Amino acid sequence: AHAAKPVAWFDGALVEGDTLQAGLTTHALHYGSGVFEGIRAYATETGAAVFRLPEHLERMRRGAGMFALPFDPALATEAVLATLRANRHRDAYIRPLAWFGEGSFGLDVEGHVPHMMVATTATQVHLNGTRARLGVSRWRRNPADSLPPLKLCGGYVNSILAKREAKARGFDEALFTDRDGNVVECTGANVFLVKDGRVTAVEHRDALPGITRDTLIELTGAQSRAVTLAELLDADEVFACGTAAEVAPVAQIEDREYGDNPVTRELQALYGRVVRGQEAAHRHWLTEV
Ligand code: PMP
Repeated sequence: AHAAKPVAWFDGALVEGDTLQAGLTTHALHYGSGVFEGIRAYATETGAAVFRLPEHLERMRRGAGMFALPFDPALATEAVLATLRANRHRDAYIRPLAWFGEGSFGLDVEGHVPHMMVATTATQVHLNGTRARLGVSRWRRNPADSLPPLKLCGGYVNSILAKREAKARGFDEALFTDRDGNVVECTGANVFLVKDGRVTAVEHRDALPGITRDTLIELTGAQSRAVTLAELLDADEVFACGTAAEVAPVAQIEDREYGDNPVTRELQALYGRVVRGQEAAHRHWLTEV
């Protein structure tokens, strides 16, 4: 059987995804003037459903608002659902992107054509479900007073630099800390620790307000507060979390190795049930496709 050609949503219509192209004067290509989301759909008993879709699109709306990029969450909702249906996806990663397109080479966004697309792929796992090994980044996270922690395209150059450096040093992922020794986040995931059975969510103004992080705080009653690298290294368990990574146990930070991670594994399983609609109290987080 032939695999059906992937369908994407582009500026109001479903199109063959492989044929989409962007012009060479695309503003976002030169200056990063776009905003995106990473969302997931899961197979549930009643069909595919998108986890916390309104929250993802609200964050995207806030990002678009930073540079007056037109963005309509209702239209984006329809675009996401239409793309998932067209591709007959059940477990899927969803990538909406809105950006400023063709125009002059000037910085002003005015005069550039706004575009939006949605692409979906069968689910890939960010940290491959394995226990991650983190290197402490020499790069600092974009400070929030220079670049707000939203999913703005240009902001991810910072994540690329840190991830490349971590990988060159033999780690899987980078852990950002600030100048005062506080933990910020990873390149595409937030950080939690477990100490004496208590779960703590790392809070930092330069970190993306993660939806998985918010979900886990709601599920566990975890305290959200500033955490130093020293405290993280002293924890019993550490995990990273994000839409793609889900709940990813950390095996190692630099030369500090963590042992078994029973609390993390329990949370991993709980999160897995919640996103698949198996926890009645949290089904309101799912939008049926
Ligand atoms: N931090 C960064 C920098 C990210 O890109 C992501 C992924 N969106 C996260 C944290 C986790 O956020 P979420 O749980 O909303 O996916």
